Amino acid sequence: MTRPSVRILAVANQKGGVGKTTTAINVGTALAQAGQKCLLVDLDPQGNASTGLNVPAEERDLTTYDALSGSSDLAPVILESEIPGLSLAPASVDLSGIDVELVDDQHRARRLASLLGAPDVLAAEYDVILIDCPPSLNLLTVNAMVAAHAVLVPLQCEFFALEGLTQLLSTVRQIQQTLNPGLRIDGIVLTMFDRRNRLSAQVAEDVRQNLGDVVYNTMIPRNVRLSEAPSHALPALIYDPHCAGSRAYRELAQEFMGRTRKATAA
Ligand code: ATP
Ligand code: MG
Repeated sequence: MTRPSVRILAVANQKGGVGKTTTAINVGTALAQAGQKCLLVDLDPQGNASTGLNVPAEERDLTTYDALSGSSDLAPVILESEIPGLSLAPASVDLSGIDVELVDDQHRARRLASLLGAPDVLAAEYDVILIDCPPSLNLLTVNAMVAAHAVLVPLQCEFFALEGLTQLLSTVRQIQQTLNPGLRIDGIVLTMFDRRNRLSAQVAEDVRQNLGDVVYNTMIPRNVRLSEAPSHALPALIYDPHCAGSRAYRELAQEFMGRTRKATAA
């Protein structure tokens, strides 16, 4: 079993480019800055979270691929990032073949859950583990949802936002009914919100009307500093701590901690 007070979150949405990685990196950084011990598990073959935390592909000796494929435990994969309190399990492009590689393993969906439950990972006493999922509902995302307590869904403020969500929520329900009955939706976070754009405001309103309290109050604005930060291999919170995007991610992290206190007290 994983440590009771650790909160494991799958940051997931099968739609590409909606802000999963930006959210995982910056919420992880904000939580670390607030004194929470965090681990970011990069489960995307694109490895954007690893690059964004300044671990380029050539410096990734061991990766989540080695752990999931069974050739390493998870603890040796984990590195300290440059942000105090934030560790990283980097990904590699080999992850893209894991579905096929594990096809004969009956327990393939539980691999990440058992890696995170290993004694030397528990001994690190993380407060929060964020899993950055790929843009697909494949075996990697299923592993994340089986290992997680809850799913954090970044949702881009655009016209088709709600359509993709139906499929995501149905996958969450299937996993609740089979592999992880305790799985919850932590929340939906609206990303790339543009207050000058009426469509953005309309989508935000529709999402809140349809989904209610599960939607975080904090919205992440469309902000160029957020998109520049990865090319400097820095979280936006470090690259420009005062920009609107960084402020929003700090607020989101505070709201998250409030929800977590309620969820664990319940
Ligand atoms: P993928 O599905 O490919 O993994 P993703 O959901 O992880 O993508 P990100 O990589 O976080 O999405 O974001 C997609 C692109 O949009 C990136 O170039 C990122 O820098 C940029 N971006 C993310 N959030 C914002 C924002 N709020 N404002 C402006 N640009 C953003
Ligand atoms: Mg990503």
